[in-house]
Amino acid sequence: LRKKVTISRAPVVSPSFKMGFSSQTARLEGKVALITGAASGIGKATASKFISNGAKVVIADIQQQLGQVTANELGPNATFIACDVSKESDISNAVDFTISKHSQLDIMYANAGVACNTPPSIVDLDLAVFDRVMNINVRGVVAGMKHASRVMIPRKTGSILCTASVTGLMGGLAQHTYSVSKFAVIGIVKSLAAELSKHGIRVNCVSPFAIPTPFVLEEMSRIFPGVDIQRLIEITQNAGVLEGTNCEPNDIANAALYLASDDAKYVSGHNLVIDGGFTSFKTLEF
Ligand code: NAD
Repeated sequence: LRKKVTISRAPVVSPSFKMGFSSQTARLEGKVALITGAASGIGKATASKFISNGAKVVIADIQQQLGQVTANELGPNATFIACDVSKESDISNAVDFTISKHSQLDIMYANAGVACNTPPSIVDLDLAVFDRVMNINVRGVVAGMKHASRVMIPRKTGSILCTASVTGLMGGLAQHTYSVSKFAVIGIVKSLAAELSKHGIRVNCVSPFAIPTPFVLEEMSRIFPGVDIQRLIEITQNAGVLEGTNCEPNDIANAALYLASDDAKYVSGHNLVIDGGFTSFKTLEF
């Protein structure tokens, strides 16, 4: 028995294929995003970028006063909800709040993270501090992914993002505990991208270089006790490699916008490193 084979004459390239990027002004029109740790720094810059591209954003942060101030500053398309990402019930509540307010969740950005005051030697490590960092930086990210997936899977669409770090790619850049947490984030992204691809959900992360946001400056003040804040900002920025510019929250927001939008519709399991080339050729020098 010979099977009759019909050769399709359909064009190899889909007629709906379009060259170039979508509109630069409204790349997230009609989308709803939930961003953890968005009261400040990278999360705030990304919330602002998403809103200026047409999205509605729920800002979830442990800092209630600052979170509310940020939401007010960003205007009517920003709403604040108090959330400690280390508590699963808070994450679940933030996802449910987003759905009740906007009826959908298109983008989950699990961005909240902390550094920690761990000693340079593992011999002196307090494992309670290790647990605390893992609870926020790792468990908090996993909880965000879990509850976002719960509402995204039935819709068969969604984009999940996290903030990893260059310290999740190289040892020796930060204290071991923080570094371990960011290696884990990259691992979770890869494994969840594989699991969720069959549901049409993309999972990616960004890995910034050092930006003098509040938690980095807190960490720097521990490394350089007594040094004034302006000098700490200079030290952080001078550790970079790309002459004539520094890594800023907006650089990460631009990357998050790309990964969240349909411009990245075939990008999943990716770690977008924003480090001015640092991890390609440099070791840290203060
Ligand atoms: P940031 O201090 O400006 O912002 C962190 C935000 O997370 C704050 O608003 C804080 O209140 C919030 N937060 C902390 N613990 C929380 C919790 N348990 N639940 C909810 N919210 C919580 O710092 P940032 O630089 O914008 O940090 C954002 C992310 O970027 C973090 O995951 C961090 O590890 C990562 N990152 C930062 C840098 C950098 O150099 N700034 C580099 C690489 C990665």
